[in-house]
Amino acid sequence: MPDGEQKVAGRNGSSRAYKLCPQCENFSHLSEGHIFCVVCGTKLIEGCPSCSAPIRSPMARFCTACGTKIISSTPPGGGWP
Ligand SMILES: [Zn+2]
Ligand SMILES: [Zn+2]
Repeated sequence: MPDGEQKVAGRNGSSRAYKLCPQCENFSHLSEGHIFCVVCGTKLIEGCPSCSAPIRSPMARFCTACGTKIISSTPPGGGWP
């Protein structure tokens, strides 16, 4: 029984997860180990604030498990009339 096949788990993307920046919507791969956003320095979100589910897509704005809004995109300066 070969022993060297455990380093790549979930090649179909099941183990992929991201961290998101709530400020500028930048994202980072969870495996990179970033804590703060490289663009604006805000602390990255690494899971749903409600149920702690991992973020599976860099485009995610809502939790896929419970529907909680992960990023509340409020445009800086307020572009609304
Ligand atoms: Zn940012
Ligand atoms: Zn959730």
